[in-house]
Amino acid sequence: MAKTWYPVVDYSVCIECGTCVSKCPHGVYDTSKAPSPVVTKPDECVDHCHGCGNRCPVGAITYVGDNTGWTPPNGKQETAEPCCSCGCGEPAEKKALVEYLYLDLSACDRCIGTDEVLDEVMMTLTPALKLAGFEVEYNKTEIKTAELAEKYRFLSSPTIRVNGQDICGPVKENSCGCCSEISGNDVDCRVFEYNGETYEVPPKEMLAEAILKSIFGKPESGCSCGKYELPENLRAFFEGKKGLSGCSCGGGCC
Ligand code: SF4
Ligand code: SF4
Repeated sequence: MAKTWYPVVDYSVCIECGTCVSKCPHGVYDTSKAPSPVVTKPDECVDHCHGCGNRCPVGAITYVGDNTGWTPPNGKQETAEPCCSCGCGEPAEKKALVEYLYLDLSACDRCIGTDEVLDEVMMTLTPALKLAGFEVEYNKTEIKTAELAEKYRFLSSPTIRVNGQDICGPVKENSCGCCSEISGNDVDCRVFEYNGETYEVPPKEMLAEAILKSIFGKPESGCSCGKYELPENLRAFFEGKKGLSGCSCGGGCC
């Protein structure tokens, strides 16, 4: 099926600032041609995203298939709803939203360990980011149920996102004794690869580097939008936990 949504650049207007190329987190533009905007992967463009069009200072970008009534803002910041949570459709503001998503902070060693490392890293980075003019938001969400996992498009525990992007690379997992015990099922949780080593709790250097890269440079991995399916591994965790707790919501609250 032909792709029905992707950007089209009016080269008679474009001033080749390169903003669209550098800010699209989905690799739609050929970065080797930067600052010239050349669309080489239209299939990667996210339906109804106006991220690059909203950032273009001269209104040179429109979209094939756009019947939303959107018009290029010509440099004015567009405040329309983003297409997803990855940040690609949001205005280019100085914001650092750091989210920690986890399964269990009472008994899971790697969730607890990662939480402690992330707290330490954020304690150091936050003042510097604020000094640089960033609005910093740091929050934590316990993914208690399959419904919440679907809502947050949660792929593996624990997950750290900056402005909606998973900063720890493609998901790799190994068997997690703690979560297997919590759920009574064999459950795999996330491992982190850094400088050729594999860690169950990421080192602080890794997290500091990944957070800064995500804010100031090109993120390591893709955004959390696109098709989502609850991984079987997480389904087994939630079902097992619900069965063991005897709690109808599975969150251990009833
Ligand atoms: S920023 Fe959004 S609209 Fe622009 S190319 Fe990337 S995904 Fe498509
Ligand atoms: S953001 Fe606009 S002006 Fe800048 S390179 Fe892209 S299309 Fe051209």
